[in-house]
Amino acid sequence: MHKVLVIGTGPAGLTAAIYLARANLSPVVIEGLEPGGQLTTTTEVENFPGFPEGIMGPELMDNMRKQAERFGAEFRNGWVEQVDFSKRPFQVTLEGGNVLESETVILSTGASARYLGIPGEQENVGRGVSTCATCDGFFFRGKKLLVVGGGDSAMEEANFLTRFATEVTIVHRREELRASKIMQDRAKANEKIRWALNRTPLEVVTDEGGGQVKGLKVRNNAGAQEELLEADGVFVAIGHTPNTKFLGGAVETDDHGYIVVKPGTTETNVPGVFACGDVQDTRYRQAITAAGSGCMAAMDCEKFLEGSMVHDWSGPTGS
Ligand SMILES: Cc1cc2nc3c(=O)[nH]c(=O)nc-3n(C[C@H](O)[C@H](O)[C@H](O)COP(=O)(O)OP(=O)(O)OC[C@H]3O[C@@H](n4cnc5c(N)ncnc54)[C@H](O)[C@@H]3O)c2cc1C
Repeated sequence: MHKVLVIGTGPAGLTAAIYLARANLSPVVIEGLEPGGQLTTTTEVENFPGFPEGIMGPELMDNMRKQAERFGAEFRNGWVEQVDFSKRPFQVTLEGGNVLESETVILSTGASARYLGIPGEQENVGRGVSTCATCDGFFFRGKKLLVVGGGDSAMEEANFLTRFATEVTIVHRREELRASKIMQDRAKANEKIRWALNRTPLEVVTDEGGGQVKGLKVRNNAGAQEELLEADGVFVAIGHTPNTKFLGGAVETDDHGYIVVKPGTTETNVPGVFACGDVQDTRYRQAITAAGSGCMAAMDCEKFLEGSMVHDWSGPTGS
């Protein structure tokens, strides 16, 4: 039986692993299908403190992993299919049926950005296609941008991007927006924001060499004809899906599937199960905030294992 299992190897899980390993708790870390997490899908990261010249996402994650290994964290390939948190020790079943038992579990499985699923999109992530204005807006100074989506986050991303771009066009497949009135009004009042409503995205178009995004091919639903919306970058803002399906309701989640933690901590409603990073964060979703909450989860877990944690929380609905 293990003392602590960490599920997921993004900044949250790896930071938790570093702290747990240095506290002599011999963490076992399950990598999942995306070892290193979301930052392995990007190029340059310019906002993670400590790297004044920036650092490539995969290199940053490789460094974090090496740091955890150096202090004795054990890594396992594999994907968690199922958990049983109804009794201790907790059971975690990997794909293939291997069952691991542990006194505590840290959930750090992230939240995946939703994509449009159109040609040219995945090939250009990090090279003109982005799902994070805070992360990538800075790379588009003086450029023309598109934001796809009609909800609050699309309005927020578009407003933020006008700090850098000369022009930002919001593309949405319907005439009506889902965003709240206040967010719509803010976007409508912004002189740099244009609108391409009632347009269904069909393809991210690049130049002939494929090195530079040229825009988005869309269908104009009013006349059914195709058009090219020219731009240097396409921001997809249609939401995130937290990776919590495998939990099967074993810990409390909100309506969108995000794990609910006791405010200011990483405690879930199950004593001994902690959550950190994007999987419990509907608001910030940054590498540094994920890493920070990974540190918190490790410290909460240490406290729990030494018996000095008073668990006085059973979730917002008391489950
Ligand atoms: C293209 C892109 C660029 C970005 N750029 C920046 C940036 O410049 N700066 C910044 O601060 N943030 C950036 N972000 C956001 C940042 O990557 C995330 O906020 C951060 O990675 C979240 O960390 P996490 O550890 O919570 O989860 P993730 O990084 O999402 O890691 C989740 C981990 O859980 C594992 N996992 C999932 N399900 C299971 C399962 N069932 N069993 C086992 N393992 C599982 C996955 O394999 C993965 O290892 C970017 C995101 C993207 C997509």
